[in-house]
Amino acid sequence: MPTNFLHTPIDYLNGVGPARAKLLKAELGISTYGDLANLFPNRYIDKTKYYKINELVPDSAHVQIVGKVTHLKTMGDGRSSRLVATFIDSTGSMELVWFKGQKYFKDNLKLNVPYVIYGKVSKYGSKYNIAHPDVELLKEHRSRQQSAMTPIYPSTEQLTKRNVTNKMMVRMMQQLFSEVHSSFTETLSEQIRSQHQLVDKNTAMYNAHFPKSAALLQQSIYRLKFEELFFIQMELLLQNRIRKTRIKGYAFEKVGERFNDFYSNHLPFELTGAQKRVVKEIRADMGTGAHMNRLLQGDVGSGKTIVAVLTCLLAIDNGFQACIMAPTEILAQQHYQGVSELLEKTGLKVSLLTGSVKTKARRVIHSDLEDGTLNILIGTHALIEDKVVFKNLGVAIVDEQHRFGVAQRAKLWKKNHLPPHVLVMTATPIPRTLAMSLYGDLDISVIDELPPGRKEIKTVHRYDKNRLAVFSFLKEEITKGRQIYLVYPLIEESETLDYKDLMDGYESVVREFPTPQYQVSIVHGRMKPEDKDYEMERFVKGETQIMVATTVIEVGVNVPNASVMVIESAERFGLSQLHQLRGRVGRGADQSFCILMTSYKLSAEAKTRIETMVATTDGFEIAEVDLKLRGPGDMMGTRQSGVLALRVADIVKDNDILAVARETAKELLQKDATLVLPENTSIKKVLQFLQSKKGLWKYIS
Ligand code: ADP
Ligand code: MG
Repeated sequence: MPTNFLHTPIDYLNGVGPARAKLLKAELGISTYGDLANLFPNRYIDKTKYYKINELVPDSAHVQIVGKVTHLKTMGDGRSSRLVATFIDSTGSMELVWFKGQKYFKDNLKLNVPYVIYGKVSKYGSKYNIAHPDVELLKEHRSRQQSAMTPIYPSTEQLTKRNVTNKMMVRMMQQLFSEVHSSFTETLSEQIRSQHQLVDKNTAMYNAHFPKSAALLQQSIYRLKFEELFFIQMELLLQNRIRKTRIKGYAFEKVGERFNDFYSNHLPFELTGAQKRVVKEIRADMGTGAHMNRLLQGDVGSGKTIVAVLTCLLAIDNGFQACIMAPTEILAQQHYQGVSELLEKTGLKVSLLTGSVKTKARRVIHSDLEDGTLNILIGTHALIEDKVVFKNLGVAIVDEQHRFGVAQRAKLWKKNHLPPHVLVMTATPIPRTLAMSLYGDLDISVIDELPPGRKEIKTVHRYDKNRLAVFSFLKEEITKGRQIYLVYPLIEESETLDYKDLMDGYESVVREFPTPQYQVSIVHGRMKPEDKDYEMERFVKGETQIMVATTVIEVGVNVPNASVMVIESAERFGLSQLHQLRGRVGRGADQSFCILMTSYKLSAEAKTRIETMVATTDGFEIAEVDLKLRGPGDMMGTRQSGVLALRVADIVKDNDILAVARETAKELLQKDATLVLPENTSIKKVLQFLQSKKGLWKYIS
C-alpha cells in the first residue's frame, strides 16, 4: 500500500459520499482519510459503570445513572427558561435540565419509567444536576450491545442536527481502520521510544480508536500525548535559539558607576533573594549582544519597580537611555513619583510624558530626549508616538502589558537602530505549567517572594444579609483613618443592569456614610477620563474615605492607606480578577482586609473561587486553580500560542508528561543540535513539516 494512502479524500470512504464529506469538512476540518484517523475521541465511556445519586461529588465529570423522572416543570422565562425534571433513584434525587429542546422532552419523557441517563454533573446550591443529559430507556439500553470502552468523538451542533451520531462516527472509523492497516509513519526515534517505553505509532493510532484493553489504551494515549507535547517543545526550543542567535541587541557590557553607587548607597531596603536573582538574569541577558525580550512576573507588591529601576541604571551605565511605559495616566504618575524618589540623590534626570503634559513642557522633554540629557522617560503610550525621538534608547520597560497591543509594541522596536531591550512586567501570574509550554524557560523571570514583614491580607466571605455588620466594620476602619474600596462587577453583556446595581449601591453607601462625616468617591467606565482622574485623585490624596468603583481600579493603583477591599457580587468575578482587585490593598503598614460579598446561591465553581481566595494570597497558586477551572483558553497570552490547538494532551492535567517531553527535547538538541544524526531523521522531517504551520496531526508522509 502506498504511504500516501492517508491522503485519500474522505468522499472515497465507504458510506461517506459527497454530502457528508462536505459536512465533515465544514464542521471538523476532515477532508482526508488521515484527517479522520487523527480525530481522536474526547473520552471513552466505560459503560460497565453505573453511579448512584448519593455517590456523586461536585466534579464527578461524566456519569451514567439509572433512575426515574418523577416530575417535570418549566421554570424561568426568556433566556433563562428551562425544563427541569426531578430524577430519583433508590439513594436520592437530582435534577435534569434542558434549555434547548424543551418541548421535545416535555412531550416525550415518560414519568416513573426507568431510564439510563448520562452527562456531566454539576452542583448548584445543595442539589446535583445534569444539563442536557443523554437519556435512554433502560429497556432499550439493555438491548443494545455495549462494548466496554466506547469512544466518544467530538461533535458539533450541525453534525447532531444532520444526524451524524457518535455511532455513525464509530462506524466510519471502523471502515477506515479496516482499510488503513499500518499506514502511519513513525514520528519519534527508536531511541526516544525505547527510552520512554512508548508504543509505536500504528499501535497507538489503532488503540486510541479501538482499545484492545484498558492497558493498551492508556499506553497509546500516553504515546500520542508525549508526541504532541514533544514536538511543541522542540519547536519552542528551536525558535528561542533562532531568536537568540539572529536578533541582535545592544550589549550592555559593564556594570558601571551609576548602578554600583545606587546599589551600595541609595537602596532604601535590602533586596529580596528573588529580586537579586531576577536582576542577575536581566543583566546576563542584556550583556550577550542578543536582543532581550523578557517577561517579569511578580505578584502585586512583590517589588517589581526596584528591578525596573536597576535595569534602567544598567542601560544608563552603558551610555543608553531608558523608558517605562504604564497603561494609564495615574499609573504613569505613580511610577514617576516612585522612580524620582528612588533616584533623587543620583543626579539622573527623569521626566514624565503623558497625554496631559502641556505643549511647552513637552517641547522641553523632546529636546532633552534628543540631546541625551534625559536619562529616563516615564509615561503612557504617549511615549511611543513617532514624535518622541530618543538619542539612544537602550531599554523599554512595559508595565502591565496586557493593556498594550502588538502594534504599539512594534513601534517600540523602531525607537533605535537596533531594537531596544524589552522588559515586560506583569502582576498577572501565568502558572508555571503554562508558561513553560508557552515560552520555553528562556525568557521569563519570576519574583516569587514578597518583601519581608508584609502582613497577609485577611480575606473573608460574607453573605449579602451580613451587610450591616460589614458596614459597621467599615466605619471602625474609617475611624482608624483607613480608606476603603467598594467594587461592583461590570460585565459587558448586562452592562445596563450592572450600571444600575452600581448606582444603587453608591446611593445606599452615601446614605449609610453621610456627609460631612464621610466623603465618597465614585469611578466607573461611563465617566469622562477627566472626571475619573479627578475622583481618583481625591481618593489618592485621602480627601475621600470610600471609593465606589467598577473594575477600572484593577490595574496597579497604589494607595497605601487603603486597607479594605469590599467586592460586591464576588461570585461574578473570575479568580485572577479577584486576585488583582485584592492586590489594591495590603500596600501599607496596616492590617488589610478583603471582604467577598455574595448571595447564598453559589455554583460549585463560584464556591471554589471564593474558597480559594479565602485560603491563599499566593498568586501562582490562584493561577493554577484558575487554569484548572477555566482551561488555558481564557488565560492571558494563550490565544496566539499552540497550546490551544492541542488535540490529545491537556496542558493542565498532563503536566508530568510535558516535563518529560521537554527534558527529552532538550537532551536531544544538546546531543544533536541540527538533527543530522540518522536516528533523528524522522523527527527532523516532522519539524520541517511543522514550519508549514499546519499542525502535527496533518503530518502524513
Ligand atoms: P509591584 O511589584 O506591585 O510593582 P512595588 O515595586 O510597587 O511592587 O513594591 C511594593 C512595595 O514594596 C513598595 O512600597 C516598595 O518600596 C516595597 N519593596 C519592594 N521591594 C522591597 C524589599 N526588598 N524590601 C522591602 N520593601 C520592598
Ligand atoms: Mg507596580
